[in-house]
Amino acid sequence: MQYGVDSLSFYYRYYLTNGMRSYIMGFMSSISDAAVVLSRLDYSETSQVLVLFTHAHGKVRVMGKGLKKSTKTRFAAGIDILDIGHLTISARHVRTEQLSNLIEWKQTRNLSGLRETLPRLYAAQYIAEITARLTEDWDPHETLFLALTYALEAIADADLALLPVVAYQKQLLQEIGSYPRFDLCLSCQRADHLSHFSSFEGGMICQYCQSKQVEKKRILPATLAALLDQPTEQTCAGAFKTLNYHISHQMGKEPALARKLLT
Ligand SMILES: [Zn+2]
Repeated sequence: MQYGVDSLSFYYRYYLTNGMRSYIMGFMSSISDAAVVLSRLDYSETSQVLVLFTHAHGKVRVMGKGLKKSTKTRFAAGIDILDIGHLTISARHVRTEQLSNLIEWKQTRNLSGLRETLPRLYAAQYIAEITARLTEDWDPHETLFLALTYALEAIADADLALLPVVAYQKQLLQEIGSYPRFDLCLSCQRADHLSHFSSFEGGMICQYCQSKQVEKKRILPATLAALLDQPTEQTCAGAFKTLNYHISHQMGKEPALARKLLT
């Protein structure tokens, strides 16, 4: 089969517009990208379904055939949740609801610190969970990918894993367009006496308007200060709870790992 100049230039343009890290090989037979493993689910005796967040293609779901019994060849090192690496997947089902086949996986980073303490592991699993639930398949978020890998690095080295989690909660909500207003009352627009948070309203409510609001959560002044600026060791639990409350509303349920993070 021969490819004319036109098709070559098309793929060359595609290559350029999709960034240097993501490239189309063999005329769209496969796609390669940097990725973080968000979840892993057994599919059959030998296969697994993996959800990964990629640098240039957003969240992708792939079928890893033979992953569970693999002791040699391309998956020799195994593949686990929170691994950071480089994937190659079949391009056949790109931007469809069907699973792409995982062709190759190479781990590129080993953040062994993530598994050294339970709080770090729970923190990393929590950000994987909320990323998987609040992003769409094949919806690119390059900034979020960088924030995710940065957060995992920070958690792997953290004394208090909740601090990088709060920073990531903020970035995720910003990226998906659901970042709340913490600087004024969404009912009357005043900037003082802010006492409650409403996920439905998407931000703060003042003490004069809060009685009209059914869905709300009381916010301490120190927590509000942490949400407006950077949380400290003392205020990060309150900031985490508030952002987790909002994230739970976006997800339709509380993240499974949320409670473990606060114990
Ligand atoms: Zn008000």
